[in-house]
Amino acid sequence: MESPSAITSLFSRLEEVLGKGRVLSDPTELAAYCQNYQGTKKGSCQLVARPSSTEQVAAVLSICHDRHIAVTPRGGNTGLVGGTVPNGGIVLDTTRLNRIREMDLLNATMTVEAGVILADVQSAARQAGVFFPLSLGAEGSCRIGGNLATNAGGTAVLRYGNIRQLTLGLEVVLPDGQIWNGLRSLHKDNTGYDLKNLFIGSEGTLGVITAAVLKLFPMPVDWVTGLVAFTSIDTALSFFVTLRGYAGDALSAFELMDGESLALASHHGLHLVAPFDRQHPCYALVELSGYLGSQDVQSLLMKPLESGLEDGSLIDAVVANSLQQAKNLWALREGIVAGLAAEGLRFSYDISIPISSISKFIPRAASRIASVSSHIRTISFGHVGDGNVHFVLLPAVDLAAEIFLSYKEKCDDCIFRTSHDFGGSFSAEHGVGTDKRDAMSRYKPSLEIALMRQIKNSLDPLGIMNPGKVLPDEA
Ligand code: FAD
Ligand code: ZN
Repeated sequence: MESPSAITSLFSRLEEVLGKGRVLSDPTELAAYCQNYQGTKKGSCQLVARPSSTEQVAAVLSICHDRHIAVTPRGGNTGLVGGTVPNGGIVLDTTRLNRIREMDLLNATMTVEAGVILADVQSAARQAGVFFPLSLGAEGSCRIGGNLATNAGGTAVLRYGNIRQLTLGLEVVLPDGQIWNGLRSLHKDNTGYDLKNLFIGSEGTLGVITAAVLKLFPMPVDWVTGLVAFTSIDTALSFFVTLRGYAGDALSAFELMDGESLALASHHGLHLVAPFDRQHPCYALVELSGYLGSQDVQSLLMKPLESGLEDGSLIDAVVANSLQQAKNLWALREGIVAGLAAEGLRFSYDISIPISSISKFIPRAASRIASVSSHIRTISFGHVGDGNVHFVLLPAVDLAAEIFLSYKEKCDDCIFRTSHDFGGSFSAEHGVGTDKRDAMSRYKPSLEIALMRQIKNSLDPLGIMNPGKVLPDEA
C-alpha cells in the first residue's frame, strides 16, 4: 500500500499527462474497477488511469515503472478468470483507445485500437462490405485489447481460428514505457521470433496492447443454421466428421450441447423453446456459410442430414428457414450461459482435448465427479469442432451451498486430471488469470513455466505488469 502522499503525488503526475478527469481516485468509482465481471472477486487499487492514446499509455507506464507501481490493464472486464482484478497499484482502463485507424480492403486488414468494442469492429467491417469473424457471447462489451490479451476464441474458430490467427501486427507499450510498433500488415514475415504471439494471450503480464492489425475476410452471403439431435456424443462426433468431410471450409460452427444444457436454456429463457417435442441426450448447432459463387450451403447441409436421418444415426433435425429462426437457434446456444448464471452457484471449466477423446472425456470426468458427491449435476457444451468443452458442475437441490463449495478443490482435480489424461489443456480459451494458477503449477510442465518466467523477468524485471496473474508463485 502506498502512503497517502505518494498516491497524491502519483495522481498529480498522471493527471498532468492525461488531463483533468482522466484519473479516478474516488473510492466509489475505484470499487467498480476492483471486481471481476461476475462481482465474485474483489481486489484493490489506488487510482484508475484512462489514457486515450498510445503515447499517453506510454507516459502512464513510464511513471509507474519509475515508482514501481503495479499496473492492471483492463478492457471490457468480461474476462472469466479474474485477470482484471487488481492487486494494488493502478488500473489502466483502455476503453478510451477507441479509434479504428485504418481499413485496407486491398490488403484485407483493419487497424484498430485496443479499446474498440468487438461488436464495433464487426460492424465497421460489415459497413465496408467485408467480414471480421471473431464472435463470442460478450461481443457487445469486450474490447479487442482484452480479446488479444486472452487469445479469445468463440463460435467461429472452426473456420477462421482464434484471434491469434486473425492478427498480423500489434502495437504494445512495454512495462518501462517504450512503444513497440509492430503494426505490420504483412501476410508473410519470417524475420526472427514472432513477438506478437508472445503478447497475444499474455493476459496483461508483459505489457499493454494498444492497437492491432486484424485480418478481414469476404462477407459470407449464404448461411444455413440447423439444430440436430443425437442419441449420444459419439454419434454427434461421427456426424461432425461426415459434415466436415462433406462441407469442408463451409462448416463455420459445430456447437455441442448436452440435453441438460439445452433444458437449462429453455427453463430460464422465457422465449427460448427447444424445437423438439422431447429432450434428447445431445444436440449440435451447426452453421455453414458460403461466399458469392460458392456451392449452395443449404444442400451441403441437407444431404448428410437426410442420410443421417435415414440410417438412424440422427434422431431429429430442424433447419432454420429465416434469419429470425437462425437467430432463435443461436439464442438457445447463448441462453445456456444466461441459464447457468441464473442457477447461481457453479464451478465452470473450459478444457480442451483432442476431438477424438471428447466422448471418453465427458463420461470419465462425470464419473470422477460422482465419486466426489452424487449430488453434483454435470453439464457439458461447447465449441466441440475445436475440441473445446465447457464443463459445468451445479449442486443438486438437496446439496447445501457450503458443502458444494467445500468440494471445489476435489472437483478441480477431477476435471483437470481427466483432461490431462487425454493430453488436454485446463484452459482452452478463457486463460489463466488468478483462477487457474494452481493448475499451472500442477499440469504445466515445469520447463515451460521456467521459460515463461524468464520471458516475464526479461520484459518486466520489476514485476509491475498485472502481478499475481498467470504465473504461479515461485516455490
Ligand atoms: P478484460 O476482461 O478487460 O481483460 C481480460 C484480461 O486481459 C485481463 O488479464 C486484462 O488485464 C488483460 N487485458 C485487457 N486489455 C488489455 C490490453 N489492452 N493489453 C494487455 N492486457 C489487457 N472467451 C472466449 O475466448 N470465447 C468465448 O466464447 C467467450 N464467451 C464469453 C461469453 C460471456 C458471456 C463472457 C462474459 C465472457 C466470454 N469469454 C469468452 C471470455 C473472454 O475472455 C472475454 O469475453 C474477452 O476476450 C475479454 O475481453 P475484455 O475486453 O472484456 O477483457
Ligand atoms: Zn466458449
